[in-house]
Order: sequence, then structure tokens, then C-alpha cells
Amino acid sequence: MESAATPLEDVQARIAHAAGIAGRKPQDVTLVAISKTHPAERILPLLEAGQRVFGENRVQEAQEKWPALKERYDDVELHLVGQLQSNKAEDAVELFDCIHSLDRPSLVKALAKAMDKAGKRVPIFVQVNIGAEEQKGGCAIADLPGLLQQARDADLPIAGLMCVPPFDIEPAPFFALLAKLAADNGLAPEEGGKLSMGMSGDFETAIMLGATHVRVGSALFGARE
Ligand SMILES: *Cc1c(COP(=O)(O)O)cnc(C)c1O
Repeated sequence: MESAATPLEDVQARIAHAAGIAGRKPQDVTLVAISKTHPAERILPLLEAGQRVFGENRVQEAQEKWPALKERYDDVELHLVGQLQSNKAEDAVELFDCIHSLDRPSLVKALAKAMDKAGKRVPIFVQVNIGAEEQKGGCAIADLPGLLQQARDADLPIAGLMCVPPFDIEPAPFFALLAKLAADNGLAPEEGGKLSMGMSGDFETAIMLGATHVRVGSALFGARE
């Protein structure tokens, strides 16, 4: 009997298809499985199926779930995709392998200090408030060059740019704008820059516009409470 594709296989196939349309290699797109709100027993099947890159949006929740899972699967890569308070920077640097949400100068300082203390450099995405939304995280577009300079001066390893476009509007122009901002700031793909963009509803569009990291939650785990 032929078994139906799992959600993981389905998302992987969709990533490969979108990459193919754009003339890109599927392996140039990293699937970050966003496991926020889901308990370890929901995460284990994905680990068993070979998925190794996961994302959480709260430091404390990740501290409760991931140390035990990382012990069993020591090649897991854990990404922080949520807003980070400066007083949590040390905990974040200790647990996470990548941080997608640098958005202000005070956090540059806190992360630099935390990395010095831990003796560990964690790749950082600068989050851009791409739709200029008041309630959203991310630095203003106008502040991006200055923030990147501060991060480089503090010796933070800048991976690239990240965004969450406005809800319920066609996301493609926002993804294209993030890619342009990356190129304008020395973070073009040819220069090794990464783009963290695209979620369950729009990751194929993001891949066609250059995403190297797609953050997919509900398409893998089902709807959150
Ligand atoms: C929750 C979350 C995601 C995943 O969202 P889905 O729509 O469930 O795929 C991606 N990025 C960030 C920053 C998130 O907080």
C-alpha cells in the first residue's frame, strides 16, 4: 500500500518545486521548522524523519523543550525567530545556533556581550520592519544601514536580513524589497548574504524571490491553538 506524503515531505516537495522554477537548487533553501507552542512529542516525528533545523519564538519555551531534544539529536540547529529582550540575550546565545531578530542598537550591545561571555559567535539576521507597521518588530528601513554598521563594529556575524510582511496583503513586493535592501547593504546572495523570508502561506513566493531560509510552522504541525 502506498502511504500518503507526510506534511514534511509535502513541504520539502513544494520547496524543491519553487526552487526549480527559480533555477535554484533545493539545498540552497533551508527549511526552519517552527515548533513554537508544540510539545516535544509533536517535534519528535520530524526529528525521526531527518529534519534538523527548528525555530522557536520564545526563549523560555525553548529552554523548557530543547535541551533534552538536543541531547538526543546533537546535530539539531535551533533558530530564534521571535523578538528578543536584551536581558534574555545571554540565554538566547547559550541555547540558539542562529538568531533572526536583531532590530535595535541596544540588542547589538547585549548580544556582543553575551557572545563574548559565551566564547561563541552566533549568526544573526537583522529583522526589517518591511511594511513599516507600528506594532511589528524589526528596524525601520531607514535605520538599517546604521544598525548593520553597529553590528559589524561589534563583531556580530551578520548572516543576512529577515522580514515578516504585513498580514493579508500580497507579500511578493515586500520580499522583493528585502532582497533589494540586502543587495544595497553588501548582503546579496553572491556575497554570501542570506534572506529569511516566507512562512506557511507564502514560502514558495519567497523562494522565487531569493529566500534562503523559510520559516514554516502550521504547514508542518497544523494550526496552533
Ligand atoms: C510563527 C512564526 C512563523 C511560522 O508561521 P506559520 O504561518 O505557522 O508558518 C514564521 N516566522 C515567525 C517570525 C513566526 O513567529
